[in-house]
Amino acid sequence: MGEKNWAGNYDYRAQRIVQPADLDELREIVTTAPKIRALGSRHSFNDLADTDADGVLVSTAALPGDIRIDPGARTVTVGGGVRYGDLARELQTAGWALHNLASLPHISVAGAIATATHGSGDRNGNLSTAVAGLRILAASGDFVEFARGDPEFAGAVVSLGALGVVTEVVLDIRPTFDARQRLFAGVPWEAVLERFDEVTSAAYSVSLFTTWDEDAVALAWLKEIDGAETAIGDDFFGAPALTEARHMIPTMDVLNTTQQLGVVGPWSERLAHFRFEFTPSNGEEIQSEYLVPRARAVEAIRAVRELAPVIAPVLQISEIRTVAGDDLWLSSAYGTDVVGLHFTWLRDQAGVEAVLPAVEAALLPLGARPHWGKLSLDADGVVPGLYPRLDEFRALADRLDPEGRFRNPFLTRLLA
Ligand SMILES: Cc1cc2nc3c(=O)[nH]c(=O)nc-3n(C[C@H](O)[C@H](O)[C@H](O)COP(=O)(O)OP(=O)(O)OC[C@H]3O[C@@H](n4cnc5c(N)ncnc54)[C@H](O)[C@@H]3O)c2cc1C
Repeated sequence: MGEKNWAGNYDYRAQRIVQPADLDELREIVTTAPKIRALGSRHSFNDLADTDADGVLVSTAALPGDIRIDPGARTVTVGGGVRYGDLARELQTAGWALHNLASLPHISVAGAIATATHGSGDRNGNLSTAVAGLRILAASGDFVEFARGDPEFAGAVVSLGALGVVTEVVLDIRPTFDARQRLFAGVPWEAVLERFDEVTSAAYSVSLFTTWDEDAVALAWLKEIDGAETAIGDDFFGAPALTEARHMIPTMDVLNTTQQLGVVGPWSERLAHFRFEFTPSNGEEIQSEYLVPRARAVEAIRAVRELAPVIAPVLQISEIRTVAGDDLWLSSAYGTDVVGLHFTWLRDQAGVEAVLPAVEAALLPLGARPHWGKLSLDADGVVPGLYPRLDEFRALADRLDPEGRFRNPFLTRLLA
């Protein structure tokens, strides 16, 4: 078929991609295709979104993208294919906000919540935790709705696309707020390793960027709520505040990043690392990420530092972020606060696959859950054992999709 994901490291094996423009067209496809999967904005790095060679991928990009704000309920109802950047603008214009964003605003809402996509912040759950309700077109052609509080709601949010096509998502919103970003260069490793909680709780959202082999963590990227008290001046654990804006990868153009240097602006223009106006059609990278239970985070960071020489040939940059725990069955933060150890690799599939066994040998025994949408191997099949509610999820998927038409090899590996 010749269609690839955003990064260009994965060729979809599906027979074709269709782009229905309304729900009747979508229902026709869902009820007749032998195998089917919903396709969001194609930002995953593995075969999660794909279907079988005789199957159909349904792009959600042209489906109704209505955005309806309910001020009384403090929710917004949004079409599943809508991108966070479009939603954020609309909310901001109307005086509302989401609690957080991922690094990139170009990803679709339904695609992001299906994989527990997250930003950073000790007290910020991932983007899936903002979901208050879902409308799913199931394999039968019937709509199924889930609202927070329903018995199976917590199983339906991080769905990996296994339950049907999510056509509408209801998200919690809050009154708009302003934020600012400051970057600090060279945070001593001793501070990160010995005062981890102080470092990550210093701002609404803290990201640490490193190649693991430096004497000090290259960059701390702080997102602070305007008006919130901050104890951080121009010195962050000995690291000075930068006075020139920077991309997290030193060789990349800073124009792609949201405004830094402490300039106050709306949440919609600060919480993501990258600007929505800048639309890369593809990326020269592959990503992996492992969400480690917070209690094991320092141990995990030490273990990856030991691997620095092994991973250096294929690593562009790593990012360390924190995510609050939740109760969503397939969330990478299910039951525990987690710390994400993220790797932006060169787009060298073979090279990355060669170093991942060492990374996974260090992290999976600590209970780290691989990000569903990023590249991982799990050669020993330990990942299913990291999800205590997996049996219940399988039962929910079997009920909504008894013939397994939304199943693909990724899900078969997981749910076997
Ligand atoms: C440059 C870049 C930056 C990123 N930054 C972050 C980050 O900061 N934090 C983070 O956690 N992740 C990040 N990711 C990963 C990304 O957020 C996830 O892979 C996310 O799932 C991609 O969403 P998508 O819309 O592209 O979905 P796709 O990749 O198209 O699909 C992902 C999954 O969602 C399902 N799906 C999509 N739409 C629907 C629907 N309507 N109904 C049912 N299922 C659906 C698909 O079937 C598939 O299972 C990043 C990726 C890239 C490329």
